[in-house]
This record gives sequence, structure tokens and C-alpha cells, in this order.
Amino acid sequence: MYVARILYPVEVLGPGKRVGIWFCGCPRRCKGCSNPELWEFNERYKTTPETVFALIKRLAEEHPIDGFTITGGEPMFQTADLRKLLGLLKEISDDILVYTGYKKSDLDPALLADVSVLIDGEYLEERNDDSLLRGSSNQEVHLLDAKKADTYRTYFATETNKIQNFFTSDGVVSVGIHRPNF
Ligand code: SF4
Repeated sequence: MYVARILYPVEVLGPGKRVGIWFCGCPRRCKGCSNPELWEFNERYKTTPETVFALIKRLAEEHPIDGFTITGGEPMFQTADLRKLLGLLKEISDDILVYTGYKKSDLDPALLADVSVLIDGEYLEERNDDSLLRGSSNQEVHLLDAKKADTYRTYFATETNKIQNFFTSDGVVSVGIHRPNF
């Protein structure tokens, strides 16, 4: 599998202090994509679900992890590895939010069994209008896990989009839902 970034604590892509996981590889090439550096399946970022999980498990020994946000890139281009990773991550937190450019109806329901919240649909730059957690307003939020639904309803009722910058050895990574021309 190809994973370009793992960041913590991400506090702008879902409730609490989360681990953000950015898959790389996305042939969609949406106009205005905020992560074009993640379009290629870059060999530098080749890894395994077990390696990713081992890193996160070490993190969890010393830091609270309220959930995971998985984005990209397009996580659904790596479904076998994604499914394996989701099963492992559940040991730490079963609050798992996943972004995809696909529609939920196009996905194998088995793949979504461990997903708490799915945000689906293609990114349309002309509909990037500050929708909370959504790159564009055509995207839909699916609260798949009834146990998490109240938490997310409250989150959507009380939060606003924010940007969080991480300083890494590769430079600054700006996390959040960015407006066009950011
Ligand atoms: S699906 Fe997401 S990562 Fe891929 S090109 Fe579109 S906006 Fe960018």
C-alpha cells in the first residue's frame, strides 16, 4: 500500500485528537485538488498495513487517540490494504472517518463495515463553499455507525472549518478543508 503521511494530533478533520492518514495515488485529477502531490503512487511511500499500524500503536501508547481520518489521494484505489488497515485500527479506536471520491453506492458494503463515517463524492471546485468537513457541497456525509452518530451530529452543529499546520521534515503540511486558491 501507499501512505504518504501520518499526522497527529489532527483536530480539524473530525472530533477530538485524531490520527490523519493520507493514502497516495489518485488518478482522478480533480480541478483545484488541494493535494496534487499525492496523485502519484510514489514508491517512496510504499508500506504495509502492519507497518502503519505498528507506528500508530506506538503513538497510542503515549497519546490519546480519539479517532482516525483517512484521506488521500484516493483510499478506495487500495481496497484490500485499506480493509486490512481498518480492521487493525479498530483495536485502538472505532471512530474511523474515510473520504472517497466514489459514491457510497459504488462501493462494496463489506469495505464499509469498519467505517464510522464516510464522506463521498467527487470534488467540484465550483461547489467549494466552506461546507464543514466537505471539500465541496455536493459531497455527502454518511453516518454509518449509529453509536457515533450523536457525536458527529453535535460536531456538525457546533464546529466550523479550521486549518491546522504541521511542521514536518518535508516542510509545512496544511491540514483542513481549504478554500479555492488557498
Ligand atoms: S479525488 Fe481527492 S485527491 Fe483525488 S484528485 Fe480529486 S480532490 Fe484530489
